[in-house]
Amino acid sequence: MAATRSNTVTSRELAAIGRRFYGRGWVQGTSGNFSAVVSREPLRLAITASSVHKGQLRDAHIIEIDGEADIVGTRTRAPSAEALLHLEVVRRRGAGGVLHTHSIWGTILSGAGPHRDFLTIDGFEMLKGLSGVRTHTHVERIPIIDNDQDMSRLARVVGDTLDRNPEAHAFLLRRHGLYTWGDTLADAERHVEILEFLFEAIGRGATFRPEGGEREVDYGAIENS
Ligand SMILES: [Zn+2]
Repeated sequence: MAATRSNTVTSRELAAIGRRFYGRGWVQGTSGNFSAVVSREPLRLAITASSVHKGQLRDAHIIEIDGEADIVGTRTRAPSAEALLHLEVVRRRGAGGVLHTHSIWGTILSGAGPHRDFLTIDGFEMLKGLSGVRTHTHVERIPIIDNDQDMSRLARVVGDTLDRNPEAHAFLLRRHGLYTWGDTLADAERHVEILEFLFEAIGRGATFRPEGGEREVDYGAIENS
């Protein structure tokens, strides 16, 4: 299929996001993947190809898939192994863009313990950067899902988790990384920036002891379901 102008622009935007995120240390090496909806009927996603270094991402590394994660057209590269997870988010949330990072702070907070099911964040002004959030008193509960190399099985767990947590703006894969999304790719990119800021603030805050201070600063909570 010849690339239309709209998915050429989308590919360029996805590649630019990848380079920006690489510059922030959120998608080192070939880690992370990004997608955007090109059409809803039939469902078509522009998504990063597998095994591409994100610091060198170009629009030629973005391929198009259908609703079954099969490649549309004649591109020879394989889509990201996590394409099924992107499709779950698009279907269940109506997202226009889905972004996945492997940052240090997201990895640390997602792996805080084998039986922790949520990262809860509240009291931060930066929460207002999440769509629909108007106050720092908002409580964001981010589900933590066990990592799995069986993508069909993991996609089913992701789908169920999204349905059970309709207010969540994101989920974490344990000791793996962050998934977030938005109505547009720009909304999704803002969500990554906000959440990565909050993860780092919580992670650093958990070990910070003010000079002369007696206890750790309690910024966030990892909780059971
Ligand atoms: Zn990943």
